[in-house]
Amino acid sequence: MTPERYAKILRVLSRRQPTLTVLMDQVNKPHNLSAIVRTCDAVGVLEAYAVPPKGGVLAEFEGHTYEATSGSAHKWVAVQQRPDALEAVRELQGRGFQVLATHLSHRSVDYREADYARPTCVLLGAEKWGVGDEAASAADGNIVIPMFGMVQSLNVSVAAATILFEAQRQRLAAGMYDAPQLSPGELGRRAFEWGYP
Ligand code: SAM
Repeated sequence: MTPERYAKILRVLSRRQPTLTVLMDQVNKPHNLSAIVRTCDAVGVLEAYAVPPKGGVLAEFEGHTYEATSGSAHKWVAVQQRPDALEAVRELQGRGFQVLATHLSHRSVDYREADYARPTCVLLGAEKWGVGDEAASAADGNIVIPMFGMVQSLNVSVAAATILFEAQRQRLAAGMYDAPQLSPGELGRRAFEWGYP
């Protein structure tokens, strides 16, 4: 590996945000999953989570559109598989994340009102049915991107990008990209893994 390549790896890892993540609840089109992972890489998400579509496994996505359209981002953002959205919400909350479900309900707020400097997981839903009611109710908040058109919803990867770049904006303002969020040991371990896969 060239010194330039290693320097780039260190630069990217020093901006990774272990306290920002997404949980994709049965996002059933590989190209949507890929696009979300690519945005995660751009924003600095360290690890993402996915509940595969019912009856499927995430690995089925690999080698198909998922890898082809993520622009290699899947190599730099590990997607952890979880069997159930509600359990995953509780696990992340147990680890100190606020879970914000992208879901229209009586308690929904404009996504820009949320505080993304806090440890945050954005819960995203499937194209056809959105985030499940149970997971949305268990979430700490429900957020929406205001819509003024004839169509009621955005493509899930577009919604993810809109929200994640608001998170990036807030975290930049809070100085969260100025110093590594990973511990020196964790940063060094990941740099070794990325450099010598
Ligand atoms: N019929 C579904 C519903 O009722 O929720 C529409 C799902 S939408 C096509 C797919 C996903 O994109 C949603 O679950 C959510 O994660 C995200 N999404 C789409 N439009 C959104 C918006 N305006 N605000 C927040 N999230 C949105």
